[in-house]
Amino acid sequence: MNTNNIFTFENPSQSGINWFTPSTGVFLSPTNVGIVAVDSKKDKSLKEIYLIDSGPDRATAEKLYIALKKEFSKFEIKKIIDTHSHADHCGGNRFFKEVFPSLEICATQMEKSGIECTINQSAVAYGANPLPEYRIPYYEAEISKVDTVISHDEVFKLNDETEIKCIPLPGHYFDMVGVLCTSKGPVISNDSGISSGNGTVSVFFTADGIFTRGMLSRYWIPFVFDVGKFIESLSVIKNTESDFYVPSHGEIYTEIDALYELNMLSVLQNEDTILQALKDGPKTHEEILKYVADLNNIPMRLSQFMLIGSTLKSYITHLYETEKIKWHFKDNRMLWGLSSTSSSQ
Ligand SMILES: [Zn+2]
Ligand SMILES: [Zn+2]
Repeated sequence: MNTNNIFTFENPSQSGINWFTPSTGVFLSPTNVGIVAVDSKKDKSLKEIYLIDSGPDRATAEKLYIALKKEFSKFEIKKIIDTHSHADHCGGNRFFKEVFPSLEICATQMEKSGIECTINQSAVAYGANPLPEYRIPYYEAEISKVDTVISHDEVFKLNDETEIKCIPLPGHYFDMVGVLCTSKGPVISNDSGISSGNGTVSVFFTADGIFTRGMLSRYWIPFVFDVGKFIESLSVIKNTESDFYVPSHGEIYTEIDALYELNMLSVLQNEDTILQALKDGPKTHEEILKYVADLNNIPMRLSQFMLIGSTLKSYITHLYETEKIKWHFKDNRMLWGLSSTSSSQ
């Protein structure tokens, strides 16, 4: 374990599946997929698998399926809990449903709509009928049907020892959930420091509710839909005790406080950059976007223009709601300026 509390598996599995405990594991890929495996009550030789997200695309889902076949002689995927409807989280749904027709795809009501109507992702980020360049698998997963709408605090008790609990984490997206998996048994991947204590081990799959150090070093302005809720959900993650924290993209953590601080720093700095942009007079949102991109050395391409541009508009909404900025129209342009309270600071 290092000072940043980043956890690494001592002997990472070649298959990609690494186990925290005998029943809870993770498939490491561009989008980490959570795995909970329990014995079937009817047939002890059969493993029943619950996935948290299904991977970014069909090719990754196929790799996960092959990895599961190496791990278990007989298994069935019972449920996929999609944390949210972004393509990189539900991109394997369709593949797994084809292999296991009786599997149940679960999501909250608002995320169900995006999983079933995939144009929503680029339409929300673009704010209109998206350009054809945005209608690609990176933004739009293969369409799949959500079988079961779950509440954002749904609990699945799999047996006396294993439980899956959804934790509401809105903000990055509409009604995203994180998933806290608790199971009894020894820790398999213990690089010292984690003890099973009373025999219960928890693994918190935090979805895109908190961004890893590695990801923030590359993307200082990650996609956020509702900044206020994102901040609240960051606190929820910080205040949820767990032995392991597994964000969807990048490293695994054993302690979350330092990462929480880094995420908050990113939010506050982005807010501050927008306020700085308006110090020398009102600007349109596209002028603010150029200021923010120049200051952060971000070369604008199509994807950044849409994703950072959309996130910037969400920051603008948040600063407006907290009365730090206000809008007016001049020469048929919508201009943003500092409100009198923030301009006097
Ligand atoms: Zn996402
Ligand atoms: Zn993601």
